[in-house]
Amino acid sequence: MKKFLLILLVPIFALAYKVDIKTWGHKDTFYDFLKNNSLPVSIYYNLPSNLKRKVRRLPIGEKIFILKDNNILKQALIPLNSKEQLQIINNNGKYITKVVPIIYDTEIKSADITLNNYLSYDIYKTTGIRKLSSKLINIFSDKINFRHIPKNTKIKIIYEEKTRFGEVKDVKILYANIKNKQFNYQAFYNPYDGRYYDEKARSLRGMFLPAPLHYKRISSYFGRRFHPILHKWRMHDGIDYVNRIGTPIHSVADGKIIYKGWVRGYGRVVKIKHANGYITLYGHLHGWPRGLRIGQWVRQGQVIGYLGNSGLSTGPHLHFGVMHYGHWINPLRIRKSAKITLWGKRRKQFFSYIKKFENEYQLASK
Ligand SMILES: [Zn+2]
Repeated sequence: MKKFLLILLVPIFALAYKVDIKTWGHKDTFYDFLKNNSLPVSIYYNLPSNLKRKVRRLPIGEKIFILKDNNILKQALIPLNSKEQLQIINNNGKYITKVVPIIYDTEIKSADITLNNYLSYDIYKTTGIRKLSSKLINIFSDKINFRHIPKNTKIKIIYEEKTRFGEVKDVKILYANIKNKQFNYQAFYNPYDGRYYDEKARSLRGMFLPAPLHYKRISSYFGRRFHPILHKWRMHDGIDYVNRIGTPIHSVADGKIIYKGWVRGYGRVVKIKHANGYITLYGHLHGWPRGLRIGQWVRQGQVIGYLGNSGLSTGPHLHFGVMHYGHWINPLRIRKSAKITLWGKRRKQFFSYIKKFENEYQLASK
């Protein structure tokens, strides 16, 4: 794709064509865009209906590329979302439209930061990227309490920056090191599974998410309780999270769907089998994402259902249960206990990757 653009652009610039980069504003319409560039409205009418819908809602703030020759539009590139753009080509007065991938420039950058003020401010001052601090906090959230991080903490970040027409569109941390007198943590992005690990191939985040959803409150904890519908003392072998119907429910760990269906009392249920003898159960669901099936592998954080009120339930909530080798355990107790460590082939792969990475970016290995 990149080659194609270069070949197209180089001779064009030589002939002194004119390039316009226009920012799409909230008042701009596709119709006005066609009119202002003396393009026929048939371009819009000839689009398939799914594209018509997209061009009516173009992302605000994105840059449109327009190439003109003597005030006649030769080519336009209009972003539809973060991945695709609509290309309009003037082929001797006949207009061709197609959807092509957006080409980003990627660059790997490194930043050394000493914490003086606030983490987000110090990172922004050095890198000019606001998103970096929240990404960094996310990576180390199980290890470091960033509210109480001492001054003079040294932070090194190596990150990949994706830009389009000079504007940063996305950023990915490839490596981070945070050190002070109390601790020294490293995080390597593992391209094979998209997680972060330390230099000993131990994951920085736990095997389990702290909760399978964003919840408003916990209405019932694990243990014996007086059942609100059955009016009997019963063991409550999970935890009830309250939120609105339709709230996405995420798998708390990587695993395989072993059940999807109706269970008396629990209504619509998903059960997932994980490593080390764990099974998680998600009950009272409103529904499942399209295509979810038994036997499917899911990643930590993947949406496996939507909060509902199905089965014996007094109001919209998620019943979340965790079984360990056949026994229900308190879901609030699992978080810190289980970490993922890479073993075997995946460990070898990771170590050879970080060795290359350390050489390339001259990181002193410890
Ligand atoms: Zn429950």
